[in-house]
Order: sequence, then structure tokens, then C-alpha cells
Amino acid sequence: MSDAVDVAVIGAGPAGMAAAAELAERGVGVRVYDEQASPGGQVFRSIEKVTEQRPADLHTLGEQYARGLRDVRRFRQSAVSYVPGAAVWELDGSSPQEVRLGLLHDNRAATVRARHALIATGAMERPTPFPGWTLPGVMSTGAAQTLLKESGLVPEGRVVLAGSGPLLYLFASQMLQSGCVPVCILDTTTRMSLTALAVLAPAAVHALPELRRGMRWLQRIRDSSIEHIHRVTGLQAIGGERLQTIRFRQRRRWLEVSADLLLVHDGVIPNTWLAMSAGCEHYWHTRQQCWHPRIQANGVSSHERISIAGDAGGIVGGDLACIRARLAALHVAHSLGAATRVEVQEAQNAAHSGTRKLVALRHFLDGYYVPAAAFQLPEDDDTLVCRCEEITVAQIKAVAALGCTGPNQGKAFTRCGMGPCMGRECGITVSRLLDNHHKLGMQETGYFRIRPPVKPITVGQLADLE
Ligand SMILES: Cc1cc2nc3c(=O)[nH]c(=O)nc-3n(C[C@H](O)[C@H](O)[C@H](O)COP(=O)(O)OP(=O)(O)OC[C@H]3O[C@@H](n4cnc5c(N)ncnc54)[C@H](O)[C@@H]3O)c2cc1C
Repeated sequence: MSDAVDVAVIGAGPAGMAAAAELAERGVGVRVYDEQASPGGQVFRSIEKVTEQRPADLHTLGEQYARGLRDVRRFRQSAVSYVPGAAVWELDGSSPQEVRLGLLHDNRAATVRARHALIATGAMERPTPFPGWTLPGVMSTGAAQTLLKESGLVPEGRVVLAGSGPLLYLFASQMLQSGCVPVCILDTTTRMSLTALAVLAPAAVHALPELRRGMRWLQRIRDSSIEHIHRVTGLQAIGGERLQTIRFRQRRRWLEVSADLLLVHDGVIPNTWLAMSAGCEHYWHTRQQCWHPRIQANGVSSHERISIAGDAGGIVGGDLACIRARLAALHVAHSLGAATRVEVQEAQNAAHSGTRKLVALRHFLDGYYVPAAAFQLPEDDDTLVCRCEEITVAQIKAVAALGCTGPNQGKAFTRCGMGPCMGRECGITVSRLLDNHHKLGMQETGYFRIRPPVKPITVGQLADLE
């Protein structure tokens, strides 16, 4: 027999915590599953541990991070049932009466039935394929920040940051606070586009404190000895056993810098695997250049018993994630008879102005930090696209030339996307390369068909499932 609950929330980041608290306050039976050991999600990862065991790191990680403790404490004190260390590997929406979750908790597989599921699985970093990106000594900026939050680890040696986006500058600023000075930042941000310029004024009017926070990170970088090199368009990591040199192009010149560690970042994209595997509809979001689930304003997906909130529904940032998650939860409460239509409407009206300012900021960030062209369509044919199966750009192009128009057809020829990461690192690039050849548009080109399990689980664990 499987366990049952009214609402299962997947993810205990800002969105999942806010949604679950709203449901619990209305007397709905809610359980939150998260694969991490403690609540907080990406932005407030390990906040309780840092506060208790390494309070000096709060200064390094900044005010915004420290403020997360308040949200996490409120979540802990609520009536929400919270299950840490629980990875959801399946979300089955095939029954009209309920949804079923497949879990892995304490090394044991289990199933849970729920009247409604709310996916709040957040975001992941956008893959950045370039020559040498699989070399030891090259990693993502988010991964380095995770090590800092989890374990207080700060990079050593000659560290170079490359790419674009707020997280890159936030981490550079956090490194400086920790006393570790990167050698340089190879910035791939292009000149401010007219699209970004058009939304700068509304963002400045509505979200000045948030813009100021970003400007403080940039000021700290300017005040340091970090060399900030702009308009970088090509990036290559070179070395034998591990990274030794970084080659990059600035305008028409090729330059080199020696480094021990290269941290790359090019923005974040929604973590869509569970929603995709449950059969929820998705579409190509042109402004954010990634796949988004098709959700209504109230968070409900194309499956009426599955709602999606926070960055998993489209990149919005932690604050907007919370506001929208509360509204999505209220709608779920209404559908279960625990909130009235008037309450839903009043909450929507009350949230309107807060939402508007954060949407303005998001439009500006989307327009300013456009994903780098060189990562979207790698220039060098030898660049690995699929890290797991070691498939190159040239191999995907060859498959496209054979007539494959979509990534699922391409899988049969290359095994691309069939390795342990299940296409998380290559999916967008494969679709991009096929679209570039056939010019069908990303929507028509499509994406890998995602099937459960979306998290690693052994045959033994599956066999032990009751
Ligand atoms: C690596 C990284 C670092 C970031 N650092 C910052 C930062 O320092 N500051 C900032 O402002 N923004 C940061 N962001 C952006 C930030 O994640 C979002 O703006 C914000 O946290 C979104 O909140 P959320 O609740 O939607 O998702 P998240 O905070 O990402 O929470 C999602 C939660 O879902 C859980 N989860 C995912 N899949 C499963 C599954 N299958 N089973 C069980 N649990 C699952 C995760 O463990 C996570 O706890 C970062 C993003 C990334 C990818």
C-alpha cells in the first residue's frame, strides 16, 4: 500500500516553503519532499548549518542569504510535514483522481498518492559547452557557490570566472568577501540591447533596491584588483591532465591567461524534468531561451492536478517565486475546498504591485544578460555536446545532415542524452544544433522525451518497492 496526502510539494526552496506554509495555514494536509538535507533551496542552501556552525561565513555570503534564516525558521515552525533527503524520481499523472509520486528516501523506494502535486523544483545552470569544458579544473560557478554554502570551501590558486549573469558577479563578490581574489572575469555580456534599454526605466522605478544590490557587487569588483575583461566571445580551456591555460577572444584578438580553476556561468533555466516526465505541456520561451511548462496565472499546468511554482515554472528569482507560489497554493486550497473564491481574488489583488515591480526587474535582467551565442551554438566542431556519451558538435551536425529533425530521432544514432545526466547537460544544445540545420524553429524541433526515473535509482531499490 502506498502512503497518501492531500498535497505533495516537491522542493523546499523559497517557492516550495511559501506554498506549503500557505496550504498548512488553511488546514490542508501538505507534505514537502526535498532531496537536500535541510530547507532553503539553492538561494538559502545550508542556512541553518552556516548560522549555527560557521557564523563568520554569513558575512561572506551576504545580507540576502542571512535573511533566509527567517523564512526557513517560519517554515520549520509551521504545521507542514517536511521530508528532507527525499528525491522524487517519478510523478505519474495518468489517473484523473490523483497523482502518484515515486520517492527515494533513506535508500528505499516508496510511492505516495496525492490529490494534488505542486512542483517547486527550482532552476539549474544553463549548460555552457565550449572546447575544454570537461577538463578537470573547469566547473560551473553555481557548483563552486554550493561548496561554499555547504562546506565553507573557497577556491584556491589562480581562479578565473567566465560568462555572464547576476550569479557570476554575486559569487565574485562573495569570493572577495572571503579574501579570495579571482585573477579576472571574462565577461561575455553583450552591449545593452534596445530591448533591455526599453525596460531599464520601469525596472529602475519599481525595483531600485534590487538593482542597487547588483550594482554593489559590481562596485566591489571594480574596487578590487580583479581584471574585468568585457566583450569576450570565444572561450577555450586548455591543458593536459587538467586546466592550465584559458584562451579567449576579445573583439578580434585571441588572448591567454593561465589558471588553476575556471568557473563558468551563463544564467539559469527551469528544472523541468519532473513536469516533462509527467506529460505536462512545455513551450520554447524565446526571451529566456529555454523550455517553460505551460502554466496558467494560477500555477496550474496542462494537467489539472499538477501546479508549478517558482523558478521551475520560468525564471523569476526568489522573491517573485514566493509571491507566485503562495497564489498557486491558494488556488490549490480553493480547488480542495479550503479557500473561497473571494480570498483567492483578494490575495491576487494584494500581490499585484509586488509582482509588477519584480516582473519589471526580471524583464530587464532577461534583456541584459542574454545567453552567449558561443555557448548556444559552439563554433568549434570538436566541442563535446554530450559529456556522458562524449558526442561532439560534428556528430550532431552529421546526424542533422542525415535528415534527423528532432533530438529523439538523433538519440538512436548517437546515444546523446542517454547517459547518467539524462540530457540535462546536452538537451538544449542538441535541439539548437538541429534547429540551426533544419530551421524548423525550437518549438517544432522539440526536446528529449523525458521519462522516469528522473533521479538515479538502482534496480534493487525498484525491486524492493512494495
Ligand atoms: C546553483 C544555483 C545557485 C543559486 N544561487 C543563488 C543565490 O545565491 N542567490 C540568489 O538570489 N539566487 C540564486 N539562484 C537562483 C535561485 O535558485 C532562485 O532564484 C530561487 O531560489 C528560486 O526558488 P525556488 O524555490 O523556485 O527554487 P530552489 O531554491 O532552486 O529550490 C528547489 C528545491 O527543489 C529541490 N528539488 C529539485 N528537484 C527535486 C526532486 N526531483 N526531488 C526532490 N527535491 C528536488 C532542490 O533540492 C531544491 O531545494 C541560484 C540558482 C542556482 C541554479
